[in-house]
Amino acid sequence: MDSFSMHNSMTTFFPADTATKPIAIAIHGGAGTIRRSAMTPEAETQYRAILTQALEAGHTVLKRGGNSMDAVSAAVMIMEDSPLFNAGKGAVLTADSTVELDAAIMEGKTLKAGTIAGVRGIKNPILLARRVMEHSEHVMLTGKGAERFAAEQGFARMPDEYFITERRAQELTRAKQQDATKPLSPDETPATKPSKNDSLGKNKRSSLYDGNAPLNEWSHEGKKFGTVGAVALDKNGDIAAATSTGGMTNKKYGRVGDAPIIGAGTYANNATCAVSATGHGEYFIRSVVAYDIAALVEYKGMTLQEAADAVVMKKLVERGGSGGIIALDKKGNIAMPFNSEGMYRGCITTDGKIIVEIFRNEKK
Ligand code: ASP
Repeated sequence: MDSFSMHNSMTTFFPADTATKPIAIAIHGGAGTIRRSAMTPEAETQYRAILTQALEAGHTVLKRGGNSMDAVSAAVMIMEDSPLFNAGKGAVLTADSTVELDAAIMEGKTLKAGTIAGVRGIKNPILLARRVMEHSEHVMLTGKGAERFAAEQGFARMPDEYFITERRAQELTRAKQQDATKPLSPDETPATKPSKNDSLGKNKRSSLYDGNAPLNEWSHEGKKFGTVGAVALDKNGDIAAATSTGGMTNKKYGRVGDAPIIGAGTYANNATCAVSATGHGEYFIRSVVAYDIAALVEYKGMTLQEAADAVVMKKLVERGGSGGIIALDKKGNIAMPFNSEGMYRGCITTDGKIIVEIFRNEKK
């Protein structure tokens, strides 16, 4: 039953005003070298199915009058539980063959946030990030401390085997092999020019994870994709953002990406917008991507799309940072720019239209 007929029949399961107040949600499942030619129809179908499921999970929360924090959590959890994405189960492996998870959630109404980094054994990192926000006096907890907090809060600890998939183990082996191989040719710039290599980024070495490296030592494209995120607007006009990831394949030394850094990979403020990012984290951290978009909206009066494009399609490209973002504002405007070859993404707009896309230039 849709919310209109529910409203009319007076069986108000949803609060009566839900039908008239705009609600919207957008999600991503990672950006990178995602090419139609490199993906089987079966895989494509699976990705589209989970993206749709995640969107619907979040949208159902909103339709029922739930808040944007619950909506983004619900959407992200679906993708964390799917081995297809680089978050929760199926997250990428570190150089030590472990799974170390980063996640963040932020509430646009209060500017409260909770984030975790380098955490092992937690099935749904987004729930732990939210617990940090709601039940600790801190914003960000890392590693062992975050795990101790999780235990105190009654989170079950999952064995490594739960997270590790064959596909990610193979990716790690390949990434390690590439570490020792030849450098990129100088013309292989990252965001501006698609890789000449295949989707595994062959011939690229992974000095890769040095976000300060010259542009030709690029790595994110083809090395990984699948970070997940969601932004949502609820019937009260409140927005929220959430991001969850395993980071980047073969990451070392307790590396933390942009996802759990408030303002870099995740940000939400009712006054401006909610943003969740995916891409080569080092670049996103240094460009403070999510907050930069919000600042352009706030201080320059740009529309959400203008601000998102200015940062993702121009500034980041010039700096060599590959990836994309999803963003939404209080009116339910949605922007999903990416400068990589593809980005798993989708949204349900204020008029209820569902969009699920993977590649660049998808037929509308
Ligand atoms: N942004 C994530 C990180 O750098 C990875 C990704 O989105 O692909 O940790």
